[in-house]
Amino acid sequence: MKTLLLATRNPGKVKEIQAILSGVPLTITSLLDQPGLPEVVEDGATLEENARKKAREIFEATGLPTLSDDTGLEVYHLGMKPGVISARYAGEHATYEMNYRKLLHEMAGVPAGQRGARFRCVAYYIDKEIEERKDGTCEGTITDSPRGKGGFGYDPVFLPEGYMETFAELSESVKNQISHRAKAFLQMKNILLTRFA
Ligand code: IMP
Repeated sequence: MKTLLLATRNPGKVKEIQAILSGVPLTITSLLDQPGLPEVVEDGATLEENARKKAREIFEATGLPTLSDDTGLEVYHLGMKPGVISARYAGEHATYEMNYRKLLHEMAGVPAGQRGARFRCVAYYIDKEIEERKDGTCEGTITDSPRGKGGFGYDPVFLPEGYMETFAELSESVKNQISHRAKAFLQMKNILLTRFA
């Protein structure tokens, strides 16, 4: 089977993308299994730029079909922040908890009707002579306090629209059906199924 490389070292993303792409006739590996590959500096001004940069640099280094994901949490009340800086919202080496605590602090006292937010995921696929981009968004609201142990990142403070549980309380299989990442990568799955049939 041919190998597909995920241009990420984030174990949470790897697990989700592997589940979403299950059934694609490819061996799906990631930078976690490929030590020595370059560290991609995510210095783009947008999610799109970062997603393209990650896929391009890793494809150029390996020649393997490469998939990338750049995701941000966009909070309407905060003018779509943290967005592209979601990973380092509370500082360069901030933990997930430090980032969502900072967000909850900024949203303290904001009434329920103004706590809307969305996750936005931009996925890129690069292989010889082909470059594809697919986007996915998931609308929801920011909770008052963290809830749940699953998922990663801002999952404990994000209630997806239509659900009473945060992404960190919902099962992996539900998150993988309704999330921003699911919406972007299910479109990629169709491309891969056609290309590698
Ligand atoms: P990046 O795409 O690696 O730049 O991710 C940016 C940050 O967004 C991550 O460090 C997480 O904090 C957050 N993030 C990305 N995807 C998710 C998700 O599915 N749930 C919660 N947080 C996420």
